[in-house]
Amino acid sequence: MTHFVPDNLPDHLQHYIDGEFRDSIGGATFEVLDPVTNTAYATAAAGQKEDIDLAVAAATRAFKEGPWPTMKPRERARVLNNIADAVEGQDRALAEMETFDTGLPISQALGQARRAAENFRFFADVIVSLTDDAFKVPGSQINYVNRKPVGVAGLITPWNTPFMLESWKLAPALASGCTVVLKPAEFTPLSASLWAKIFEDAGLPKGVFNLVGGIGEEAGAALVAHPDVPLISFTGETTTGQVIYRSCADNLKSMSMELGGKSPVVVFDDADLDAAIDSALFGVFSLNGERCTAGSRILVDRNIYDEFCVRYAERADRIVVGDPHDADTEVGALVHPEHYAKVMSYVELGKQEGRLIAGGARPEDLPEGNYVRPTVFADVKPDARVFQEEIFGPVVTITPFDSETEALDLANNVKYGLAAYVWTNDLQRGHRVSQGIEAGMVWMNSHNVRDLRTPFGGVKASGLGQEGGQRSINFYTEEQAVHLTL
Ligand code: NAD
Repeated sequence: MTHFVPDNLPDHLQHYIDGEFRDSIGGATFEVLDPVTNTAYATAAAGQKEDIDLAVAAATRAFKEGPWPTMKPRERARVLNNIADAVEGQDRALAEMETFDTGLPISQALGQARRAAENFRFFADVIVSLTDDAFKVPGSQINYVNRKPVGVAGLITPWNTPFMLESWKLAPALASGCTVVLKPAEFTPLSASLWAKIFEDAGLPKGVFNLVGGIGEEAGAALVAHPDVPLISFTGETTTGQVIYRSCADNLKSMSMELGGKSPVVVFDDADLDAAIDSALFGVFSLNGERCTAGSRILVDRNIYDEFCVRYAERADRIVVGDPHDADTEVGALVHPEHYAKVMSYVELGKQEGRLIAGGARPEDLPEGNYVRPTVFADVKPDARVFQEEIFGPVVTITPFDSETEALDLANNVKYGLAAYVWTNDLQRGHRVSQGIEAGMVWMNSHNVRDLRTPFGGVKASGLGQEGGQRSINFYTEEQAVHLTL
């Protein structure tokens, strides 16, 4: 099979600082692999403290000298809408790059590019319709809120759906009037490098957007530690979030933390089983299972447990694993050989901790590349590591329950609390269980589609703070109270 290579694929990726593409000051680079062949297709500039210093200085200058932070919301919204138009206009080309770099199936990468455009359009609308409080104390005072952008926002993003997740931070930060330094994940730096031209063409002033690539412990850590960056928005693993949290404490920075998950799918015996099975397959096998909100623990009412397992495994077996650029592919190649090795180690562990009913190996017809067959373990006990730990690949566990109370106990019996999915046709039970689950987001008889005005974020080890709609604007702005005595 010939492996698709996008047009204009760069062989070197640079930082973008103060409107200029540039290499690291000391010349450091790292290699970027393509997950289908696991060979290096590009080198990328590996940012160090000096590069971060330069980027923060540019962003600070752009913030202090303007015009971006003081532009009228309508003017900023116009630039954001230009960005959305540009992303939509080149969605296929962007998706091809993203697929090449990440191994995501092309059909799904296309959807993610459109979601990225939508994030910009959405925050353009939010910013022009924003209202702030004013209070009048009759005869004595007027008090009002003066909302101000915080300053230079440090944005640190993971390798799963990178372009879309970057947009989820860039759009509200820019809409709020902040200037930014983005540090994308080292496994997948390609699509981040495409923002620079999109922003330039859309009319974003020089220095407002800065990009420094590199390793988390170097470029990421320097960004977090920089005293002129008052706020860090981070998406990634819980353990990395803990390291960043500690570093932010030194400068008392604001933080938004979107962290890992191990989200339950609870299926009661009165659920629409066809819909529940469809959704539970999509929930963990779409985006290669490399999805923070993946429904990776399925909990099933014992009355329908055997039927569920048989039907689910049979469907999982039929999922098409293949070259991510092939339009029919449903599960592509995992992002990187290191991540592949981690996922495969859980696959082996699951064989001891549960009953393998689908997958459990790489597809026989794909001897190279980071391919894993959709893997399903039944009869998994709650103390199993495959039940407790985030695998972040196409691997799912199934566990039976005998009562609503037990279902809730199992759902809540992990350190994470990002998302949950509840399937039942009993309205009262649906709400009871949804409200009892320790998760930032619950989908009842549905999955993952959400209105961007709703809160997005996790509880417990899945995160700190919530984004979405006005909440994102609140994070990137400060509300100053001004009191005037009449
Ligand atoms: P990761 O924590 O390894 O890396 C995320 C980013 O942090 C990368 O850019 C990395 O370079 C940087 N980084 C690493 N160490 C750092 C340090 N010491 N200081 C500063 N930056 C550092 O995560 P990942 O493997 O790229 O992403 C997968 C994880 O992200 C999963 O746990 C997944 O659940 C989570 N995630 C969460 C959400 C959410 O919204 N809750 C969304 C997507 C992904």
